[in-house]
Amino acid sequence: MKIKNVTIAGAGVLGSQIAWQTAFHGYNVTVYDVFEKGLESGKEFHKKFAELFKATRGATQEQIDATKARLSYTADLKEAVKDADLVSESVPEKLEIKISFYNDLAKYAPEKTIFTSNSSTMLPSTYAKETGRPEKFLALHFANPVWDANVGEVMMHAGTDKQYFNIVLDFAKSIGMVPIPIHKEQSGYILNSLLVPLLSAAQNLFFGEVSDYESIDKTWMISTGAKIGPFGIIDMIGMQTVYNIALMNGTKTNNQAMINRAKKIKEEWIDKGKIGIASGEGYYKYPNPSYQNPDFLS
Ligand code: NAD
Repeated sequence: MKIKNVTIAGAGVLGSQIAWQTAFHGYNVTVYDVFEKGLESGKEFHKKFAELFKATRGATQEQIDATKARLSYTADLKEAVKDADLVSESVPEKLEIKISFYNDLAKYAPEKTIFTSNSSTMLPSTYAKETGRPEKFLALHFANPVWDANVGEVMMHAGTDKQYFNIVLDFAKSIGMVPIPIHKEQSGYILNSLLVPLLSAAQNLFFGEVSDYESIDKTWMISTGAKIGPFGIIDMIGMQTVYNIALMNGTKTNNQAMINRAKKIKEEWIDKGKIGIASGEGYYKYPNPSYQNPDFLS
């Protein structure tokens, strides 16, 4: 099976990156978002990525024009998937949204379409049934930013047919990812199995008032040689995702301290428009966050 037409569902932080990266690598890409506002923000992201690719990734104007020409945008799911070979889903990390999205997608997508989820925290088997085609459904998980942290974690669930696993591994490679095969469902894949405990420990230190976020980042960066610390990473991920995870975990385990933390993240960051790199401010201010200053580590 040859993949030519790719539909990206959800034009937010990650969906807009995946769409751009996929179109840049020669695929016809349809960007779908249920909200016109989401599509508009996706288009804004794409203007920024065009500049970024020219300024820092050596892309020529010709490549940028060709990428733009391969991108189209719609808020009509039926239209978005009518000839899709592969759908990459990046709708919000909420179970009811995922389930309702896959129920609709199952109605409209042609039989040939492979479905992939970019969910960071939910296992494909959680909503494999809703896809109506569990054998053609699996996870293709990206990191942020897609082009620099270019691992594509490809994870089967027990009902995935191996042939689609192999097709998606090849697809990931063809859009500039290093494909990482994950043969068994693993909550958090490989990356988040490592990263989530780090970010959680860092937030426990900060919200527990043990230290300030800059000192926590500094300690990590000096000691491991990393270019970025946990709070710089949180700004990349976006406060909305961090909020969703804190609220989901707090509610699931009836942990009031975690629910309060989610509330604080919402009130002190999200409600003030500080949603991370995407809005120009999270823990740090962008561009040129202070942790990139040479004297930050001194
Ligand atoms: P986001 O909130 O930035 O974007 C979500 C987009 O989905 C928005 O544009 C919203 O309008 C749209 N949307 C809402 N309901 C929808 C629906 N029913 N159908 C279609 N679109 C809908 O979220 P994000 O950070 O891009 O995360 C999306 C997914 O990607 C999540 O599953 C998350 O776990 C995963 N992910 C995120 C990151 C990250 O760093 N942000 C990294 C890897 C994976």
